[in-house]
Amino acid sequence: MRSLETLSGGQWVTTGEWLPVHDPADLRTPVARVPALGAADVTRIHDHAAAGFDVWRRTSPFDRARVLFETARLLRERADGIAADVVAENGKTFKEASGEVQKAADFFEYYAGIARDGYGTLVHDARPDTRTSFHGEPIGVVLAITPWNDPLLTPARKLAPALAAGNAVVLKPASETPLSGLLLARALHDAGLPAGVLGVVTGRVGRISDALTGDPRIAAVTFTGSNAVGEGLRRSLADRNVRFQGELGGKNATVVLADADLDKAVGALLVASFGQTGQRCTATSRVLVERSVYREFTDLLLAAVAALRIGPGGEDTTVVGPLSSSGHRDGVLADIARAVKEGATVLAGGGVPEGEAHAHGCYVVPTVLGDVTREMAIWREEVFGPVVVVRPVDGLDEALAEVNDSDYGLAAALFTRDLGAAHRFAEAADCGQVAVNTTTSGWDVHHPFGGFRASGSAFKEQGGEALRFYTRVKTVAFHFGP
Ligand code: NAP
Repeated sequence: MRSLETLSGGQWVTTGEWLPVHDPADLRTPVARVPALGAADVTRIHDHAAAGFDVWRRTSPFDRARVLFETARLLRERADGIAADVVAENGKTFKEASGEVQKAADFFEYYAGIARDGYGTLVHDARPDTRTSFHGEPIGVVLAITPWNDPLLTPARKLAPALAAGNAVVLKPASETPLSGLLLARALHDAGLPAGVLGVVTGRVGRISDALTGDPRIAAVTFTGSNAVGEGLRRSLADRNVRFQGELGGKNATVVLADADLDKAVGALLVASFGQTGQRCTATSRVLVERSVYREFTDLLLAAVAALRIGPGGEDTTVVGPLSSSGHRDGVLADIARAVKEGATVLAGGGVPEGEAHAHGCYVVPTVLGDVTREMAIWREEVFGPVVVVRPVDGLDEALAEVNDSDYGLAAALFTRDLGAAHRFAEAADCGQVAVNTTTSGWDVHHPFGGFRASGSAFKEQGGEALRFYTRVKTVAFHFGP
């Protein structure tokens, strides 16, 4: 079994205690192991990060950009190996994993370019012979906590802007998928990132969470994950005046109006609902179809879903890989069973695939449920798996009310040929990401990204907007007259 070391103070270290990493397509043998750090190891990483920040904040933006560009180059050079590890620890298809590596590299290139520009503005000053300006400066040590569903991309989305702005980062990847975060750290290290600027915390969160999140030197926490953990963190950090960015859950809806191109809508839903086995925060899990085309649309959708091929992510023919773990698979199956008990009808899937080929993996057959009401848990709660519900609606107004009938506000999509309906939808959908005639998922590195209400926080990720979180604004007045 491979053993990977973790990054602490510019050194690759182990502790003697290990955390196994499993392949969700075949749980029988661990694929690798990573160090299980203790609280003292975590505090040491914070020590290094504080020292690393002092170096990196004073490093020229051009040198910072050079490190980030080189990181992107190394990620692309190592793409096939990294993608294979993403597949091995997460289960997604090799094509999806390869896309993840390329997009991670895009993040570093994008923010390397931005790092060369200053973040400042000159403003008028009413006093004579005075010039006033304001500019962003780095905030300090950023703790980045990431989930297992995009194990390389989510760390890249956070590290690239944080480092471009001159911060140090302590990365805590998900325990189920620590390999990708370590491979990203390896690329940054090899690209010449100074010691301490990045540290990676692998280990059992129950043992280390106080040392990880309670360290007084943390200036900000960027967290992607569940609402339960995110909301707890938000509360505890607010009392310490630590900046918090949360990318949390979603219950995203796609609306299909009668005038839509139905084949195009079905094609988009296959990607948005079943891509990455539904394990995307932006996955569509609710489909609202105008009543006059409900039957026609549902028939098309069910035929397309039946053709999706389930299997290990490493096989060329696989379209839908396993879920990330047996615990998560069991949770998804329990959500389906509860929906059925509450009155939903299984239109497709609803269980695990048969046969020896799938016997040791965490598979759930792509599932479509009908007869779902607003009172059911499956309508309100995030499943984070290959499960969608379809409901008929009478026109755009009702569809909008249903889209917004959620505590979450991450993403929504509309399929229509009516420009007026599209504009009304974009204005009235209470979500941070709105798509017309395309998928709820799949936002590019320069598109500001983040949800409203229970899905997010005040700070967006991606694009230039991300730098608002990773910088603080200093205002400077110069008087040059007598
Ligand atoms: P999770 O259980 O909240 O875990 C996320 C991360 O938080 C993991 O690294 C986890 O570590 C860590 N963590 C857990 N408890 C902690 C604590 N007490 N202190 C510090 N860190 C702690 O979420 P998940 O189940 O892995 O991820 C799925 C969720 O992420 C879904 O709800 C999904 O919607 C959301 N998500 C949101 C977005 C978005 O952009 N809005 C994107 C992707 C996913 P361990 O792994 O060691 O437990």
